Amino acid sequence: MSIASFQFDNSYARDLEGFYVPWKGAEVPAPRMIRFNRELASELGLDPDALDSEAGAAIFAGHVAPEGATPLAMAYAGHQFGGFSPQLGDGRALLLGEVIDSHGRRRDIHLKGSGRTPFSRGGDGKAVLGPVLREYIIGEAMHALGVPTTRALAAVATGEMVMRQDGPEPGAVLARVAASHLRVGTFQYFAARGETDRLRQLADYAIARHYPELEGRADRYLALIAAVRDRQAALMARWMNLGFVHGVMNTDNMTISGETIDYGPCAFIDGYDPATVFSSIDSQGRYAYGNQPKIAQWNLARLAETLLDLINPDDSEDAVRQASEVINGFPAVYERAWLAGMRAKLGLDREEDDDMQLATGLLAVLETRSADFTRVFRSLSTAAAGDVSDTRALFDSATGFDVWLPLWQARFVREFAPAEDRIAAMDRVNPIYIPRNHMVEAALQSATQGDLKPFERLVEVLADPFTERAGLEMFALGAPSDFGPYTTYCGT
Ligand code: AMP
Ligand code: MG
Repeated sequence: MSIASFQFDNSYARDLEGFYVPWKGAEVPAPRMIRFNRELASELGLDPDALDSEAGAAIFAGHVAPEGATPLAMAYAGHQFGGFSPQLGDGRALLLGEVIDSHGRRRDIHLKGSGRTPFSRGGDGKAVLGPVLREYIIGEAMHALGVPTTRALAAVATGEMVMRQDGPEPGAVLARVAASHLRVGTFQYFAARGETDRLRQLADYAIARHYPELEGRADRYLALIAAVRDRQAALMARWMNLGFVHGVMNTDNMTISGETIDYGPCAFIDGYDPATVFSSIDSQGRYAYGNQPKIAQWNLARLAETLLDLINPDDSEDAVRQASEVINGFPAVYERAWLAGMRAKLGLDREEDDDMQLATGLLAVLETRSADFTRVFRSLSTAAAGDVSDTRALFDSATGFDVWLPLWQARFVREFAPAEDRIAAMDRVNPIYIPRNHMVEAALQSATQGDLKPFERLVEVLADPFTERAGLEMFALGAPSDFGPYTTYCGT
């Protein structure tokens, strides 16, 4: 393999002309590699030694296009906080190209912060270091937690200062990898223009890329909606089981592949509260922790609307009826996935009728006592082994927990698999290390001041979130009381 070479196979550029604008990244003064994900690079068939370099920094800053790249800005629309914008698109991003990874999967390599494009509207096309490293930390943590997600391949400093609300900040670009960048908003863009032929082309492309088992089926567009529904329902269940709040679930931030995308004002909850909102711009709580499944369903209904003409071109009422049936199936699919996740968290294999009540019963106790969601679940393996003191200590008053505990203990023994196996399995689904808000903030603040060590350490710790290690106690704790309520910013 020659230096810094990519085996690109750019199906989007090739098959979907008219769905994007060919473009190139802005030149920047001094591209410098901040962090390169060598393990992911190897998985993509790239040469980590060649790319973890000055040449790699220039490529992932968008400064130089590697051979075989067809950089382009994708067109998409989207509902943002419920209001429709017919034209968003990659205003500060480029799809560099696609590679086939070592598992045979097609993956996009995409740059975020690589300069203005025809979709930039008033924006400067740039990204800054804090939000880029934030996406790096949380995206990689999500991957390690077993959540389908885009991944961070490289974070590059550009060497220029970029103006933001609170003054100039160091510019940066994130190179990220995704199963694709097809979004609900991509379909909305062409639906809003009444371009039915392009919608069909897009839907067929999405099916071939993400749901090839549907190819050739007469009802494939309806089946596509159902398939995306099922993946998104599973994704929402994972988020909810882990306490993740995305923060900006606009339809342009929801993928067709079922991967989590666009880590902006996202954060993990500490105390369990469905009303938790971190994002400074989500004043109505539209994207609150507990609303996420409902919003996913709402977004899927927007996807379904774009496909009605393809489902039944002759009878729109029939198309609406069929699509509605699929969308209305979301809560049941979601609930099944969520409950399966909760059973695993509680060390249960079998299904019993009262499991839903058992799971929600614990959440109700957590909510009234605002106990730390992650720590309580993690401690349950110790409780299952007979020592409930750690768990009890996580509640300011254990009264409610003490009512719930015997119900769970009685249920825990009504199983076939040995208790020790189930206890070990609990520690593989209830993480001990998550991106704690105060740790993320501290790492980003140091990085912005030039010290990358806390960022690097945090990324390393979060790469293995389930294995308790000596010396990492501080990473397992909730925010100190003086940290106060946490607010996140989009940082665009
Ligand atoms: P996001 O909130 O990151 O999902 O982005 C929403 C839309 O705003 C997308 O079309 C982005 O490309 C665009 N956008 C965000 N930040 C910028 C920026 N600094 N310059 C140009 N466009 C931007
Ligand atoms: Mg976005």
